[in-house]
Amino acid sequence: MRIVQISTEFAPLAKAGGMGEVVVGLARELSLLGHKVDVIIPKYDFIDLKKLSQLKLEIADFKCVEKGQLYANAIWSALCEGCQLHLLEARHPAGYFYRGKIYGCDDDTQRFLYFCKAALEYLKLKGEEIDILHLHDWHSAACAILARDLFQLKIRSILLTLHNVEYQGKCATWDLDAIGLPGVKYLTENKLKDDDPANPKTLNLLKGGLVYADGINTVSKSYAKEILTPQMGFHLDKTLRKLKHKLTGILNGIDLQLWDPTQDPHLPVHFPPSFSIEEAYATKEKIRAHLGKTLGIDLAKRPWVGAITRLAFQKGPEFLEAAIERSAYWGVTFLLLGSAPNPKIQARFDALKKKYQGKPQIFLHFEYDEALAHQIYGALDFILIPSHFEPCGLTQLIGMHYGVVPIARATGGLKDTIFDCEDPSIPTPVRNGFLFSEPTFDAMDQTIQRALKVFREDKPRFQNLILAGLKTDYSWEKPTQEYLKLYNSLL
Ligand code: ADP
Repeated sequence: MRIVQISTEFAPLAKAGGMGEVVVGLARELSLLGHKVDVIIPKYDFIDLKKLSQLKLEIADFKCVEKGQLYANAIWSALCEGCQLHLLEARHPAGYFYRGKIYGCDDDTQRFLYFCKAALEYLKLKGEEIDILHLHDWHSAACAILARDLFQLKIRSILLTLHNVEYQGKCATWDLDAIGLPGVKYLTENKLKDDDPANPKTLNLLKGGLVYADGINTVSKSYAKEILTPQMGFHLDKTLRKLKHKLTGILNGIDLQLWDPTQDPHLPVHFPPSFSIEEAYATKEKIRAHLGKTLGIDLAKRPWVGAITRLAFQKGPEFLEAAIERSAYWGVTFLLLGSAPNPKIQARFDALKKKYQGKPQIFLHFEYDEALAHQIYGALDFILIPSHFEPCGLTQLIGMHYGVVPIARATGGLKDTIFDCEDPSIPTPVRNGFLFSEPTFDAMDQTIQRALKVFREDKPRFQNLILAGLKTDYSWEKPTQEYLKLYNSLL
């Protein structure tokens, strides 16, 4: 099969969250199976090109029109993670991909609409037949509209993967006009009209992707059901219910090359391949000693609880704040590695950091730091994930692969991958963590206390939870088979 993925992330070169890992994990696995996979991403200024051996200029100059003006672009290509990676260099005067970051600019919709259009110009130039055009979230959703209404490309089928329905790419009709699509027409025909009644004149790129794609999938089965409800559909639930016949859910894997505790280059010591509980714990102790030395974290014998997360509403930042405040009462060492896209939320965490300055049993760090994330996974006993909603969630999977027991809210992909220690409907060897259903502090507090009781008073049971996580196959093998089945059904 010839598969082209268009994405705004590709881990670890350009990663903001889970999506970048999904794109690379799936691409690598499909390539291994002999499929021809091309991935197109923007050539961001921060990409470390030294990591791409044999990077070559594939097309030195091709044009893309925006607002009636012709702009130059180039394509750089390299074999990367088994697939052909194409970096689209937009030589646009607005410096669309020279911002030092992927998301969070005022002109994100214009930046990614331009990227979609230029990516399709490139595919048109190549003129090859494509079996599956695989798009991810709103950022590349417009490719489905462009491919069908503006470009006559030989694309047999289009799949749109929803990593997060909260972000939808809302824009004005003139933003579509700018890339040569009739914005007003899409508004009046309702194909792209935002479903939120408060925005009667706004277009919604994710909705356009849903309408134009031949298939849609989310990254877990539970989330595929949840987004059909007004509580979790972010106003797209009505459209999604109408398109339910083409919606499925495929659980993410984790990229076992990025996340390999036996040879993770970010860890000061590696977990042994056999991975017995004793050895795992001896390794954790060494990683903690390293963190104690480098970050000044207290090494007194206490359970280590932590979170590695964007501090966005979705992730339940108020629960993480409460957990930090309560960590002394619970008698745990608490580590949080996170960053808040919202300055108000960040300010609250900054205040907490100030309050707990000098308390070595609380470590709060607000940055995106890949190496530190790996070390924290290596060191934790528990990972706390109190999400309001969670399309799949990778941190529980990575955690379990590094011998960490998750404590999480029972929602979306968390519900599909974490099986409570005390759930009688789940066979004991499959139980791997702790879940709470109600999004309340009390529910979280009780569940954490329940988890700590097992940790402190029932070691064999706790170790079984760790073993269940360690033994589970989180690789991309199974999800890739499911994607192939889905691709085939679309063809
Ligand atoms: P998201 O909704 O952000 O995509 P996921 O759980 O699917 O959430 O994936 C989050 C990914 O981003 C994980 O690989 C996690 O380790 C990583 N991550 C989140 N925050 C940070 C951070 N501050 N520093 C380093 N890695 C982070």
